[in-house]
Amino acid sequence: MNTGRALVLFSGGQDSTTCLAWALTRFDRVETLGFDYGQRHDAELDCRMTVRSRITALQPDWARRLGDDHLLDAGVLKRLGASAMTDDVAIALQEDGVPNTFVPGRNLLFFTLAAALAYRRGLDVLVGGMSQTDYSGYPDCRDNTLKALQVALSLGTDRPLRIETPLMWLDKADTWDLARQLGGAALVDLVRAETHTCYLNQRDRLHDWGYGCGRCPACELRARGYRQWAARRAPA
Ligand code: ZN
Repeated sequence: MNTGRALVLFSGGQDSTTCLAWALTRFDRVETLGFDYGQRHDAELDCRMTVRSRITALQPDWARRLGDDHLLDAGVLKRLGASAMTDDVAIALQEDGVPNTFVPGRNLLFFTLAAALAYRRGLDVLVGGMSQTDYSGYPDCRDNTLKALQVALSLGTDRPLRIETPLMWLDKADTWDLARQLGGAALVDLVRAETHTCYLNQRDRLHDWGYGCGRCPACELRARGYRQWAARRAPA
């Protein structure tokens, strides 16, 4: 058990749900923060409360440690526009090789708002599900970006603030395995059935890896990771 009081950036997706479980095993007090930024996949916002209520049933300690939820309006990101994450345009690679689902400044803004909330709530660890290993090439998910942000936010609030990113060096198969390590089959089932990843907001069919269209980049990454993880676990 680490000392500290954590605020988890919690979108209701696979990664942030795994991070929530990770934080609940480590910190005595864990609050959650979500953002409404006009994302096309707003189904994830509905998943947040379901995951929160069901994850506490998995372990008595987790129920005791899980504190308040917060939802902030970050709609200014949609007004800045021009991202396939918020606007109804086809998902594609930009000329610079970054997918057009990239929302410039999103994680910078999210962590800045999280730091302000943490200041108000007396929390000293921010937990985010960013990863640089197997993901979409978003520059604000990189370890160096978040290390620099940790320094800036600590200086700017004059408090030692730690940013923890437990998935930073994991691929999607590792993330499924981390869920299994943290909460066994029950947590894997919760991630599978109650979290949302699909950019196109589809939840009409449950695949072995969860709900989604199966074709958008987020679904492809999630499905491929699940299959790799399942293959690893299959007897030779
Ligand atoms: Zn999809």
